[in-house]
Amino acid sequence: MTTLKQRLVSRIRGLGPVTVADFMSEALAARPNSYYRSGDPLGASGDFITAPEISQMFGEMIGVWLAERWQAIGSPSRVMLVELGPGRGTLLADALRATRKVAGFHEAIELHLVEINETLRQTQAKAITTLTPHWHSSFNELPSSDVPLLLVANEFFDALPIRQLQRGERDWHERLIDVVDEDLRFVLSPGSSPLAALLPRDTASAKPGDIAEVSPASLALMQAIAERIARRRGAALIVDYGRAGALGPSLQAVANHRRAEPLAAPGEADLSALVDFATLARVADQAGAAVFGPVGQGAFLTALGIELRAKALKAKGGKDIDAALARLIAPEQMGTLFKALAVIDKNQSPPAGFA
Ligand code: SAH
Repeated sequence: MTTLKQRLVSRIRGLGPVTVADFMSEALAARPNSYYRSGDPLGASGDFITAPEISQMFGEMIGVWLAERWQAIGSPSRVMLVELGPGRGTLLADALRATRKVAGFHEAIELHLVEINETLRQTQAKAITTLTPHWHSSFNELPSSDVPLLLVANEFFDALPIRQLQRGERDWHERLIDVVDEDLRFVLSPGSSPLAALLPRDTASAKPGDIAEVSPASLALMQAIAERIARRRGAALIVDYGRAGALGPSLQAVANHRRAEPLAAPGEADLSALVDFATLARVADQAGAAVFGPVGQGAFLTALGIELRAKALKAKGGKDIDAALARLIAPEQMGTLFKALAVIDKNQSPPAGFA
């Protein structure tokens, strides 16, 4: 099979430079040998570790949040529970275990998982034993339905394609990827980019050389979620690592728990970018939903009672609980870089965790 790099090189030679978004989509999702299409990238033996893989407490807190939102919309007898990018299914397994005593909740759930990775779909099927999931390849493939929506996405938006703009002397140019001496390299579009119109206002202070990022794919997904919630009721919880301010490049590659060069080996490393929560929140608001946050993951989990849960687990003889708790909530670890954003319909009370 041609490698993704060979494929990109011949495409660029034939059709010209590609955007960072095209590159990310090829490297991560679009081809059978894209990074997220097979194999398990998670865990100590993989490329990176996520919050649900650090401790069961993470998924338990999110379960409590979801069950509380189900009650906040009147404990409907049917609800669509959707997870975007469920990884190994750990978050959901912990969330479902933590809420099994909430009367009527599990009976109401119709479970839908959005996942493009066949290996992970199988792991998810093994992890989730008490409900029968339906799998889809994108949010837009979910059945249209009148039932309310509960949605959770942890470390999903950071893998969606972004485009990058670089400030010139007078205007913004798009950062593209071209072939230079057989290798993939960043270049700048010669003309000014119309995408500049999408940049948040605080990029007006940019100096020549500064880089800004926009993620049309993330904004379109957020709009689809928020519209559905505004129309059918429901709640979405998005957790991810967020940008502070609009300026600065954040595209990064990680392989074997180490930083790698993003253009070096497409398909062989994870690529991600910091999530622009401020713009996601604006899009959800314009789509007619109510928005809470973003707040730091540490503040969110603490408000939900993770410290009490840690105490209870320790009392039962749980191991390494303090270290896991610190990793999830300490400001110098995941506590502030990671953020939570809630999107709900306008007819319900404010959600827990966003005081
Ligand atoms: N939420 C999990 C996994 C995060 S990794 C956790 O916190 O552990 C990202 C997840 O999203 C993986 O399950 C990956 O296979 C899936 N994924 C990545 N890009 C995707 C896309 N474009 N469409 C659907 N799923 C995708």
